[in-house]
Amino acid sequence: MKLNLIQDASNLQDKTVIVRVDYNVPLKEQDGQMVVRNDKRIQDSVKTINFLRENNCRIILISHLGRPGGEAKPELSLAPVAKHLTENLNLATKFSPDVVSDKNKNLIEELRPGEILLLENLRFKPGEKKNNPQLAEQLASYADIYVNEAFSTSHRAHASMVGISKHIPAYAGFHVQQEVNQLSKLLEEPETPFVMVIGGAKISDKVEAVKNLDKVASLVLVGGGVANNFLKAGGLETHKSYLEDKPADEKKEGVDYVKVAGELIEENKTEKILKDGYIPLPKILYPIDVKAAENPDSDVAEIINLSTGMKDTPEDKNMMYLDLGPRTIRLYQEMILQARTIFWNGPMGVFENDEFAEGTEAIARAIAKSGAKTILGGGDTIAAIKKFELEDRYDYVSSAGGASLDFLAGKKLPGLKVLTTTE
Ligand code: ADP
Ligand code: MG
Repeated sequence: MKLNLIQDASNLQDKTVIVRVDYNVPLKEQDGQMVVRNDKRIQDSVKTINFLRENNCRIILISHLGRPGGEAKPELSLAPVAKHLTENLNLATKFSPDVVSDKNKNLIEELRPGEILLLENLRFKPGEKKNNPQLAEQLASYADIYVNEAFSTSHRAHASMVGISKHIPAYAGFHVQQEVNQLSKLLEEPETPFVMVIGGAKISDKVEAVKNLDKVASLVLVGGGVANNFLKAGGLETHKSYLEDKPADEKKEGVDYVKVAGELIEENKTEKILKDGYIPLPKILYPIDVKAAENPDSDVAEIINLSTGMKDTPEDKNMMYLDLGPRTIRLYQEMILQARTIFWNGPMGVFENDEFAEGTEAIARAIAKSGAKTILGGGDTIAAIKKFELEDRYDYVSSAGGASLDFLAGKKLPGLKVLTTTE
């Protein structure tokens, strides 16, 4: 995939450029006003904005925020983001309370070179998610050039991601380029051993990425709720544990995710020799012991050893598996320290409760000090590394969730496809 890059655009000087950013940032109330709680995603767009300013462009920023469901919801206005850009990032930004309107035309005409205008939340219009051609055309009519700087929305064929590019030349911004380059490195000849660490809650979100990366990975370490599918498929009881056997997403109805896990185990039975070149291992590892309790808020937990043929005690029957056990942690640490490339998505346990945070913290630390090239992503995974104050210890932290998993699953993202000249 060869993207059209913004730095290669000819005649950028003095143009009006509409930039689709992802300012879907968490807000909080402070002194009766909404303010930005975390501006990572805004920061991600600054390089492109500054590049356009250096080229004397007039800049129109468009984004969604939350799920207003196609109507104006004042609490999901982007106005606080314009304020944040102006006051915290030294990028004076005007704001329009309309997504599309005649007034917008005037505001845009009044922009001087280097000035920035942020339009209201795109998802206040039902046409955004429906890729409505009129909405796309109206947005495109505001500018000469379109830039996608919203990698995390690129798996969505929305008006501001896809339809708009039919009308004006479309380019990838610097952050989109960075995400694509980093994630591509995992798919194209990663340095081996390449260890993939997968956790989190729902296997349905991750299974396609696991299947695709599995072709290049040396070893897959499974934890979190996802591990329960593998345990069950491997013939063990998971009792009251979280288990996604039927998907929550109705589009995937009929898929049996215990069976899917079983197939993955079967396909990867071939023993790999990884550790120090002499310990044989199957390619997919799942926990050999877990930390369990009767509920995720509990502060009393116990370790349950797991191996086929072991009898469950009557007490086990009320248990939820909520974290990796100590033997699993040691095993996974060993494997991680052998790796040259690591991709991690999904917490290893219910890390929000300190009682079940040990597995996630131990794995996060092992990855941080592995010396491997480390790439990680996922909203909750990022929350976990923040909790352990490790966020600066990895080579690349992707802020995109669904889009990066789709990318790693080998899918063509609609929002990126329109940035290539040969479709
Ligand atoms: P990410 O956002 O990083 O992709 P997910 O959204 O897939 O991660 O999963 C995160 C959630 O998974 C967390 O809220 C965590 O509490 C939950 N989780 C992890 N391990 C378990 C488990 N064993 N049982 C139930 N939930 C779990
Ligand atoms: Mg999540």
